[in-house]
Amino acid sequence: MTSPLIDIHTHNKLIDSVLGIESFSIDKVSFYQKWPKSYSVGIHPWYIHEINVDQAIKQLTYIASDANLKAIGECGLDRAIARNFDNQYHAFIEQLKIAEKYDKPLIVHNVRAYSDFLGILKKEKPAVPFIFHGFNANQDILKKLIKHNVYFSVGAEIMKDNSKAQRILPHIPINRLFFETDEWIGNIEELYLFASKLRGIDIDKLRDQIYYNYKSVFV
Ligand SMILES: [Zn+2]
Repeated sequence: MTSPLIDIHTHNKLIDSVLGIESFSIDKVSFYQKWPKSYSVGIHPWYIHEINVDQAIKQLTYIASDANLKAIGECGLDRAIARNFDNQYHAFIEQLKIAEKYDKPLIVHNVRAYSDFLGILKKEKPAVPFIFHGFNANQDILKKLIKHNVYFSVGAEIMKDNSKAQRILPHIPINRLFFETDEWIGNIEELYLFASKLRGIDIDKLRDQIYYNYKSVFV
């Protein structure tokens, strides 16, 4: 039997045949929110100036005990956006504490902040895995990150010729790899097919491996 497809991070609704995680930003959720059966919530660094971070952390702590909340995120650090970096850092560390307390992996947004994350991984030695979403770093950074409990998720960028995501994809260890649609309105299966060709791996083997990765992180 073929393994189910996994969409590790999406802002769209998952279709029934695909397993994965629907991601919500804390500033967009309400008290009366109807949650899907597998989701994540986080404080996104882009919206940090629009929210009361302490309040959001309290809200997130409350939600975190829900068994259907599979991960915290997306959350992270973004050095390319005009938001106070110290506030981003503080919010990320607080979310990491919640993740550790409730044993939930983190879905990590990173822009030009790999050295910050390497510092955090070394200092905090988190027990929960970091899943770097939209991964597109170079081999040097990949080598440094691999030493830690981290996974790498790639999206539709891999299909853009000579994109950074496409260039790094062949180097990501297959047991640390995930696929995501993120905001892309497309079928996750296209990403699997593309990657199976690029890496010269049988599509069913790839599906088995990604499903195995999913189970190792979430079950
Ligand atoms: Zn996203």
